[in-house]
Amino acid sequence: MRSMKVNLDKKSSSSYEIRIGYKIVDRMMLIISKNFKANRYVLITDNSVGSIYAKQMMDSFKDVGLNINRIEFSAGESSKNINTVMDIVGKLLEIGADRGTMLIALGGGVVGDMVGFIASIYMRGIPYIQIPTTLIAQVDSSIGGKTAIDLPVGKNLLGTFCQPCAVFADLMFLETLPQKEFNNGLAEIIKYGIIDDEKLFRLLSENMDAVKNRDSVVLLKIVENCCRIKKSIVEIDEKEQGLRRLLNFGHTLGHAIEAVSKYTISHGEGVALGMIAAARISEKMRYLDLTQLKRIEEIILQAGLPGKIPQNFSTADIMSRLVMDKKKKDDIVNFVLLKKIGMPFVHGGIDDKIINDVIEEMK
Ligand code: ADP
Ligand code: ZN
Repeated sequence: MRSMKVNLDKKSSSSYEIRIGYKIVDRMMLIISKNFKANRYVLITDNSVGSIYAKQMMDSFKDVGLNINRIEFSAGESSKNINTVMDIVGKLLEIGADRGTMLIALGGGVVGDMVGFIASIYMRGIPYIQIPTTLIAQVDSSIGGKTAIDLPVGKNLLGTFCQPCAVFADLMFLETLPQKEFNNGLAEIIKYGIIDDEKLFRLLSENMDAVKNRDSVVLLKIVENCCRIKKSIVEIDEKEQGLRRLLNFGHTLGHAIEAVSKYTISHGEGVALGMIAAARISEKMRYLDLTQLKRIEEIILQAGLPGKIPQNFSTADIMSRLVMDKKKKDDIVNFVLLKKIGMPFVHGGIDDKIINDVIEEMK
């Protein structure tokens, strides 16, 4: 098991450990029972993850003598709303959860975001632990303390910053993850390789087959690397005022494409297309050389992620979706561009025509 500490503020109270490994549930239980004592634990998960892992996890808590209850909700982004929050809070009250209770978020980003949100407001805040079970949650959403639910007009519009007391990422969970979900995580991993670490980029391109086969030894190295990158960015910029924006590489256009597809394009596919677009824009504006652009396109295709925007998506719709995002941010589209692999920067004034041309070329 590898472990790293996220140091936030000067106050040690907001620092916590991320632990990563393969089949670490037993050790995790020892750590929870020793370091994270609570009168009661409530395991919150979705019904898909629950049907595979809830019983085993409940038994693990009971085996070390901890008092544990379980709450499940329906899997999927469509559950990430205030109604589900109210249902869960109602159940917490029924169980008798109080300020001596600790929540355990077992699942992907949806579970993590929502449990974090509830933990941050239930009885003015109770502690929670993240046990991320998707690749994307292990390398991204479980670290950094962003919590949120969706509103009818958009995703993640109601939320808080609230750090967990610990994160346990067990690679064993990835063995049952559907391929599509695994690919979502791959896109984020490639993103880390592009924005932060030429070494990670090389490790990934040399071991892509092993990664795709979910080889736990290779994945451990990679997940650990990604967590380290995310953690060090979050440490410097907890509330996303500057540096943390670099994590949006590929996401500006990616989100627009996802939205225009009415979410038939997954987050990972959108980010893959957005990363290629951002790299092509960087090359057109003469920041990035062509050989580096080719390496980026190659690794994305090698991972089995898409390189082309479907013909039937209207460029005008994608552009207008970008402008919608623009309005939120004082009329500027903050695009993350590249000088080279490992050297991203935020560019605030890209000509619409360049973006438009790149979208057209990618069809
Ligand atoms: P994300 O982590 O990408 O934000 P979700 O939380 O929506 O995504 O999880 C994606 C889907 O994968 C959900 O249907 C969830 O139930 C399912 N899932 C999560 N973890 C696992 C796992 N380890 N094995 C099988 N299915 C899983
Ligand atoms: Zn993402």
